[in-house]
Amino acid sequence: MPYRRPDRLLLAVFTVAAPGILVLAGLLIAGILSPGITLAAAAILFALAGVIAWRHVTDLARLRLRVDQLAAGGNDPGYAATTVGDLSLAIARLGRQWQDERENLAAERATADYILDALPDPLIVVDKSGMVVRANNAAEEIFETELTGRDLAAGLRHPVLLRAVDSALNDGNSLAEEIAMPPPTNRNYSALVEPLGESADSGALILLHDLTPVRLGERMRADFVANVSHELRTPLSSLLGFVETLRGPARDDTEARDKFLAIMHEQAGRMTRLIEDLLSLSRIEMDEHRRPDTPVDLRQVLAKVKDMLSMKARGRNMPIQITVPDTPATVPGDEDQLTQVFQNLIDNAIKYGGENTPVEIVLGQPDAAQLSVTVTDHGAGIPREHLPRLTERFYRVDAARSRLLGGTGLGLAIVKHIIARHRGQLDITSAEGEGSSFTVTLPIFADASEEPPAEMTG
Ligand code: ADP
Repeated sequence: MPYRRPDRLLLAVFTVAAPGILVLAGLLIAGILSPGITLAAAAILFALAGVIAWRHVTDLARLRLRVDQLAAGGNDPGYAATTVGDLSLAIARLGRQWQDERENLAAERATADYILDALPDPLIVVDKSGMVVRANNAAEEIFETELTGRDLAAGLRHPVLLRAVDSALNDGNSLAEEIAMPPPTNRNYSALVEPLGESADSGALILLHDLTPVRLGERMRADFVANVSHELRTPLSSLLGFVETLRGPARDDTEARDKFLAIMHEQAGRMTRLIEDLLSLSRIEMDEHRRPDTPVDLRQVLAKVKDMLSMKARGRNMPIQITVPDTPATVPGDEDQLTQVFQNLIDNAIKYGGENTPVEIVLGQPDAAQLSVTVTDHGAGIPREHLPRLTERFYRVDAARSRLLGGTGLGLAIVKHIIARHRGQLDITSAEGEGSSFTVTLPIFADASEEPPAEMTG
């Protein structure tokens, strides 16, 4: 029920009746109307004015109530086809329109927020006083603090960047520069600082793009070229030295010639192995995104590798003991590449394992979805601090020993890449003085995944 104020109603009654009352008073004074008739006419006039004013004030009160309801976000009550009622409906329409616009704006803002937060690059917006008004998730993550609502200088302690923001806010200047973030962030970024809008005091935008992986890639490439050059230079200079000797002082020394030719053959073989390993690494890398899907029985692969390496193992009196299940152990794979994986691992076990100790290979099924092969040797083992870097190219625990044994330093890098292509995993455990275990886990071939756990035979 709309609330009507009595003073407003009284005022309205008098306002409506006033002209009539004045006319009646004039007629009375002029003696045209008698006091009785004037009184009766005035009473009728007030009654009529009361009815008109009542409706008018009621409508206005309803209108006010309606506007109040709209302002509070209420619904349209929909009433009376009077002028005031029409006005109320128009206001209701206007209110609805505003409401729609508010909702659209809120939806757009939510979309913009979502996009900003989905950006992988940190983005910060500051107002003209340098206060952060928006920082996306990436920004809050790298600075490990809540930035929004704080002074930029409190969360971001980088003098170059802060000076650039000042310059953007005060002089409208932009900056694009590479910056190094100090610890704990410890990363390299390309920073873009731009004033927002035409006038310098509308705030500024800071956009950072992480260059660390790019710089890391560049350094790795440079290291790789340096390593390859170094690996090739040593046997090459040894070859050149022997050629010189054979052409000079040892020209007629048959015994020395045979000895030198054997060493030259060994050095040339080392370079060939290196080139072959480099080529196979680059081939594997090119194919890495294409997962192989041919069924390969790991039991056959292991038997083949055992045959290939049995001579070498016999030379050090190291029996290769393979434990496999009776049932097929099939994985989706590339047979040649899987052969290379186990050839490299078993070859390492023979190289670095102790003489007269066995190399043990166990093919098992850790769960319904995977198969695993563990190659264990009983050698000197690998100190713990080397384990995380062992699969890096040219990383060796003992470079001289590796070279002496004919190693290229690429074997485990090749293993890692082939396993990655097969969506598998390599785990290395080692105990110094006892030996090392290299476990390759591979997803099982889908059709064989329902098989019961494999039974082991020696
Ligand atoms: P390399 O050609 O030098 O053997 P790899 O990439 O195969 O290169 O291995 C890298 C290094 O890891 C080796 O130089 C060696 O120091 C260490 N390593 C690999 N396998 C074993 C193992 N079974 N026992 C001890 N050390 C090993």
